[in-house]
Amino acid sequence: MLLFTPGPTPVLEDIRFAMSQPTIHHRTPEFEAIFANTRKKLKDIFQMEEVIMIASSGTGAMEAAVINFCQTKALTVNAGKFGERFGKICQAQNIPYTELKYEWNTPATVEDVVNALENERDIDTICIQVCESAGGLRHPVEAIAKAAKAIKNDIVVIADGITAVGVEPIDTSNIDVLISGSQKAFMLPPGLAMLGLNADAVLKLESYEKGYYLNLHTELKKQRNNTTAYTAATTLVIGLGAMLEKIEKLGKDQLYHDSAKRAEATKKALEAIGLSVYPTVPAPSMTTIAFDKADELRKILKTKYTVNIAGGQDHLKGKIFRINHMGLIETYEAAWVVNAIELALADMGIRTFDGKANQIFNDIYFRTNV
Ligand SMILES: *Cc1c(COP(=O)(O)O)cnc(C)c1O
Repeated sequence: MLLFTPGPTPVLEDIRFAMSQPTIHHRTPEFEAIFANTRKKLKDIFQMEEVIMIASSGTGAMEAAVINFCQTKALTVNAGKFGERFGKICQAQNIPYTELKYEWNTPATVEDVVNALENERDIDTICIQVCESAGGLRHPVEAIAKAAKAIKNDIVVIADGITAVGVEPIDTSNIDVLISGSQKAFMLPPGLAMLGLNADAVLKLESYEKGYYLNLHTELKKQRNNTTAYTAATTLVIGLGAMLEKIEKLGKDQLYHDSAKRAEATKKALEAIGLSVYPTVPAPSMTTIAFDKADELRKILKTKYTVNIAGGQDHLKGKIFRINHMGLIETYEAAWVVNAIELALADMGIRTFDGKANQIFNDIYFRTNV
């Protein structure tokens, strides 16, 4: 079965092997050396001053960022399940927040954020996704962050890059906190979350502390010494180090290039067989298609063509399907996915099979310079 959901993504065989060694104790020079190595490689992929790894799913890092950096009021951007989550975290933590709400196919605008910041001067934090995975859309995070800093230079921009870090280059010049998780672009089992911090965020963390398990002040201090406040997710840190080494060998620019090209080839192939892309500005991490018979299609894909893709949530349940492009994916697997979708559409009596999807995919991936 090909796992093509935009998280979790498959774990490669050599990475599974790297994680299959006997457990080592986390308070040892051996593990500290591994931790140091993983930290160094993580900083390179985040392109940020500091990184913190915590044992939790991605949401743990979202909550950590909110509770450690928001002092007065947050501005949250809700264009889907994950943006909505920032608001729920604020609610649970009794942190005042204002929410900008959008359709799940529509990215936030610089203008809306600027207006909100001008109207509510007590907002000190912005929480936004780089890619909102619910509909596969790309927010203009870099432009929003830049405009926000121009209005209030000490505002903290928290960007959830769980489906963007390791997928595409992100300009972090105005992003203070960038969040990622193990089970998406890093192709690891779920359970490890990561935060990238710029120099301003580091200074803030050094000056005060908040939280207990998610106390980033303590965690940063420990992790700078290559250890963790609580038991490290040793196996996942080992897997992450191994995965980052693979990415380093390939070159991160090559990884971004390959991911973008796979996304483009997939999108064009599916459009060529009559399907339409759901978000107005798609992120390269996934292709999201608006399709009323999404669940029937997904069932055929799974049972007949051994491809597992994701559906939609909430009001988009049964109305969209999502195909992953994150990670080191074999081109022949990605090509099979569009091929299988074309076959399934024929099974559903929607379109006669003529191999068009595969042809377009190959043309774009191999024969044009994207
Ligand atoms: C997957 C994902 C998360 C994290 O979800 P967890 O289930 O907590 O790992 C957060 N934000 C985005 C955009 C995601 O895609």
